[in-house]
Amino acid sequence: MNVLLHTCCGPCASHCIRALREAGHDVTLFYSNSNIWPPDEFRLRQEHVEKLGAITGTPVIVDPPDHEEWEERVAKGYEQEPENGERCSRCFRYNLTKTYAAMEEHGFEAFTTSLTVSPHKPSPTILAIGKEVGGDRFLPENFKKKDGYLDSLRLSRGYGLYRQNYCGCPYSQRPAPLRT
Ligand code: SF4
Repeated sequence: MNVLLHTCCGPCASHCIRALREAGHDVTLFYSNSNIWPPDEFRLRQEHVEKLGAITGTPVIVDPPDHEEWEERVAKGYEQEPENGERCSRCFRYNLTKTYAAMEEHGFEAFTTSLTVSPHKPSPTILAIGKEVGGDRFLPENFKKKDGYLDSLRLSRGYGLYRQNYCGCPYSQRPAPLRT
């Protein structure tokens, strides 16, 4: 299938590209992350998503960020939530809803997300939200499986990709607990 991959960052997407291609899919990266703050950090991660695209021959679509809207629609009233609490579920839904719209707009057959690679992110929550947003058009890929995170570490080191040390929003700049 022709799949649009919501791409949180280059390191996570490195494994997803490999896994999706091995499953027979064509992949396009969709860098849509209005959650990321400050703007320099958004641009740095974008630069390395584009680097990954160039190295692997994968097209990249960049969704211009609107952090103000993200604050209003996602974080307002949930600023004090712990990481992987309600603010994060709202954030996953926001980014996956934008990816679903982009899939429709650009004529892709299906979509999924690189968010499930990270050991800091709860795959069951992300997959349930993806299904609610996209129904059968959402590929429920848990990229943690088959040592996906280790593969992303190895690939992204080899490609020389920048790896951030916080999730992205202004409320996440501290370590989060590990998840399955
Ligand atoms: S911690 Fe990460 S997933 Fe949670 S709201 Fe912030 S950017 Fe989104």
